[in-house]
Amino acid sequence: MVSVSRRSLLAFGAALPVLGHLNWAHAGPAPAPSDTLRLNYNESPYGPSASARDAMQRAITAAGRYPYPHMYALAALFAQQQGIAEEQVAVFAGSMAALRYAVLAFTSPTRGLVMPTPSYEVPHQSAQAWRAPVREVSLNAEHAHDIPAMLAANPQAGMLYLCNPNNPTGTLTPTEAIRHALANKPKGSVLVVDEAYIDFCDAPSCVSWVTDHDDLLVLRTFSKIYGMAGARVGLAIGHPALLERLAVFGGDNVPAGASLMGAQASLEDIRLLPRRKALNAQARDETIAWLKGRGFTCTASQSNCFMVDLKQPAEQVVERLAAHHVLVGRVWSNWPQWMRVTVGNKHEMARFREVFAAQVEPVS
Ligand code: PLP
Repeated sequence: MVSVSRRSLLAFGAALPVLGHLNWAHAGPAPAPSDTLRLNYNESPYGPSASARDAMQRAITAAGRYPYPHMYALAALFAQQQGIAEEQVAVFAGSMAALRYAVLAFTSPTRGLVMPTPSYEVPHQSAQAWRAPVREVSLNAEHAHDIPAMLAANPQAGMLYLCNPNNPTGTLTPTEAIRHALANKPKGSVLVVDEAYIDFCDAPSCVSWVTDHDDLLVLRTFSKIYGMAGARVGLAIGHPALLERLAVFGGDNVPAGASLMGAQASLEDIRLLPRRKALNAQARDETIAWLKGRGFTCTASQSNCFMVDLKQPAEQVVERLAAHHVLVGRVWSNWPQWMRVTVGNKHEMARFREVFAAQVEPVS
């Protein structure tokens, strides 16, 4: 087993799920030299766009001022682009923070959390720390969220968490099923839809629904398609009264002005999204097709990560690839033969295939 120290992961600059409860055995291998392929944190291989980098550099001179005007400007721009009111948008230093505050605001020891599995573990970890009961519901046969089972899981639930597309599978849950969840969830609960990866796919967003539903919170991030994971900018979108409940826990946890200005420049660059979406889809689909050609099953990802069924203990494969400087994973304990792969750029995926082919026998 490759050992992973907390310090080494932090030095690596990773957006870590949670320090207190992370299963370090599953967190991925230690960092290696600069030629190491980092396909293990669903980061963007492209980084901030040119206009975002320019804006961030210009912003340095304004670092003597509090960043609030930039925060309001970003919220206003996003709201305008989405056709919602700017009071329905709150900015946080990363969507992970907003998600944690949502768990604190909407769950309690008597009002639990219902979420899918495998999925993004942060809400589970936060609820556990808060002593709120957690019901995890397996994905269905299509690897979508099993909405009927989630609705039945806990009639006292305070929060239902959906991740669309889901991390780690990259799979989508049909919009109608999400609407059904919103209409039929336990009384007094809040539906939280995490759209960290929505811009990689063609599925409609739930953002505009917040206008008609005061019990829906949608999360967005600049960490993924916009390539700004290290800048820490996330959005919570919902009724102002709902956002107020999050703000109690960390309304002052706002990104630096440079991050906010970089995020704003990213939204203004309307050619950025389609270009990155196409690059990602091409690299992803090429790699999935190649893996399938070697007999492996992959999830039907519409995102920048997918899972591959290795038909053998996945942790061992993660370690073998890491020994050749290809960092992939994590592995979810209830899918022990599957490993997550983040989609890098074309060259990175070519190298991934090369190392994978040398380390993992095809399945006959
Ligand atoms: N939500 C999901 C589903 C994620 O996968 C991640 C990061 O991997 C986040 C939220 C956290 O994003 P941020 O970098 O904005 O905190």
